[in-house]
Formats: sequence, C-alpha cells, structure tokens
Amino acid sequence: MQYQVLKKSSFNDFIASLARIEKVVAPVARGYNTFSFQEVKDGQDVAVKYIPTILPPKKYFFPQREKLIEFNKSAGTLEALLEYEKMVIFGVHTCDLAGIQCLNMVFSDKPKDINYLVRKNKIIIIGLECNEYCDQYASCKVVDNHLPNGGYDLFFTELTDSFIVHVNTIYGDELIDKTRLFNPAEQIHLDQLEAVRQKKREIFKDEVKVNHNDLAKLFDKSFDSKVWDDLDARCIACGNCTNVCPSCYCFDMLDNLNLDLNTGDRTRMWDGCQNEPFAKVAGGENFRKTRGARQRHRYFRKFKYPVERYSRYFCTGCGRCTRTCMAKISLKETINALVDSKEEKK
Ligand code: SF4
Ligand code: SF4
Repeated sequence: MQYQVLKKSSFNDFIASLARIEKVVAPVARGYNTFSFQEVKDGQDVAVKYIPTILPPKKYFFPQREKLIEFNKSAGTLEALLEYEKMVIFGVHTCDLAGIQCLNMVFSDKPKDINYLVRKNKIIIIGLECNEYCDQYASCKVVDNHLPNGGYDLFFTELTDSFIVHVNTIYGDELIDKTRLFNPAEQIHLDQLEAVRQKKREIFKDEVKVNHNDLAKLFDKSFDSKVWDDLDARCIACGNCTNVCPSCYCFDMLDNLNLDLNTGDRTRMWDGCQNEPFAKVAGGENFRKTRGARQRHRYFRKFKYPVERYSRYFCTGCGRCTRTCMAKISLKETINALVDSKEEKK
C-alpha cells in the first residue's frame, strides 16, 4: 500500500516508538518563532508547525566541522576517518528535501565524497508537508518547491484528524511495520489529501515577477545589472546567508598539528563565498573583492551555474537567507529588481 494513515492521537507514540529503535531528530521550538533540528524522545517535543529551522538538516549529512584524516609523522601513518550515526530525521519540509537532493548531486559527482554518501545512506528521512506558507520570507513557489518531489522515505501530510503518509522506500515501509501504529489509507483520506493539494495550488501563487522556468534566462542577462551595486552598498558581509543555506556546500580544510609536533589531523569546515578571503589566491589577488561581486556570485550559484551543471536550481525557496539577513536583503526583492532593471534596458 503506497499510502498509510496515522491518527494524530497516535503521533506521540509514533515518535516515542521510533526513538526506541533509532536516534530521532526533529524540529524543536527554541524561543520566539525560532526552531532547530535536535534529538527528540517523544512527540510532545516536536514542533509539527514550524518555520524553517535556523540551520537546515544539512548539518547531519555534512557537519559544520569534520575530521577527515589523522596522521602520525614518526610512525608514518595516515588514517582516513569516517564518522556516521544512524538516525531518523522527522519533519523535513519540501524546501529542505530539495536541499538534500542538491547536496546528493554535488557529493555524488566526481570525485565522489565517500564520507557524505556513507552518512547519507545511514539516515532515514521523513518529510512533512507545509499546507500553507511558513511566513512571508518563504519563497518555495519561486522555484516550484512547494509540493513534494521525492527525496524522502516517508512523507507526512496533515489532514483533519490524522496524517496521511506516502511510503516511498523500503526503509520507510519497515518503519511503518516496526511501529505498528498505521492503517492503510482509505478513499476518504485520499480525497482529503487532494483537497489539501488543491487548496495549496490556490494559496501558493507566483511570488516574483518571473516564472520559475525563466529564472535561469533572467540570470543569463543579469551579470552587469546595477542591482549588484545596490547589494554592494547594503551587504555587510556577515556570511549569515550562506551559513544557513541548505544547498551551500563550500568548505575549507585545516591541518592541525598537536603540541607534540608529531600527530595531528586534517579537518574540513563550512566556508562561504560571502567571506572576504574566500576568493583570495596566492599573491594576494582576490577574484571577488567587492561585496556586490560576492552577492552576485551567491545568486548565480543558485540560479545559473547549477542549472548548467545539474539541470536544477540550487535555491530551494526556504527563505533562510532573507530571514537571517541583518541588512534586510531579500531574495524575492532582488529577483524582482533584476526583472525591473532588465525591463528598463529594453
Ligand atoms: S538562497 Fe536563500 S532561499 Fe534559496 S535555498 Fe539558500 S537560504 Fe534558502
Ligand atoms: S546575510 Fe545579508 S548582510 Fe550578511 S552576507 Fe548575506 S546578504 Fe550580506
């Protein structure tokens, strides 16, 4: 059966029984309108209605700091490290599912990132549908990510008294069997699901002045736009926007030598293109010296370059960059400004 149903009254038991089988992480309230993915033991800890978490679930697939190698000079040894943890991530919205799909493509590309791929295979993903917009910053319709498009083992949609659950993989099916709380969906549930989707088609309208199919073309003609000058003046280069982005995957490497001057490790950590030294090379040259150039690069890495390489946008529409920006730089406003500046040139 492709669709199963879980009564809302059984939700706490579901999370509790999952937590007895595996480590479970889910969105948890962290203060006023702030959420983060963290370990839960019971359904009462889970924020079923939440706006995108401060950091996306990417942190479990691609940790902020990761030791890759340990070395011992005198022994002449070099050991590759691979740390992973089996877990279930509950409550991943469609935008963050898309973010994980982007990372899957990047880290499966040559040279394959074995650490990422092994870790990814140990994690079961349970998606959760947003029946309406999270908030005004969400831009999932800009990139047509407001409806589920794979990338999960199970996918929950809230109905009146229950959740209807799409079973997408054998791992998801096994969880259904192990927890013994689900029943096969009946026609009435499928009708309710269709009603939710129909309502979403009405709620989620075009949020910017360009259709998602034409975004890449817009960026084809926007390299010299004056919009980047405006962002140059406003951006304070804090790097928040790239730190919170579910599809940003740049990292730096650091070799740490211990005080014995003999042993040490090589660690990778997140890096971001908004940091001034990011594009600095030997000799002191910096290919993206100005904040405007770095902002342009960030947008092109979402809407142009990945389309050429992976045939998809790398913006997932989560809205985190806009939500977190201290300079109030808005993704939707930037896209509209690019459309307007193109119109003015005609
Ligand atoms: S660019 Fe902004 S809206 Fe798009 S995926 Fe990254 S953080 Fe989310
Ligand atoms: S969050 Fe805003 S101010 Fe900070 S680097 Fe990004 S665009 Fe610039």
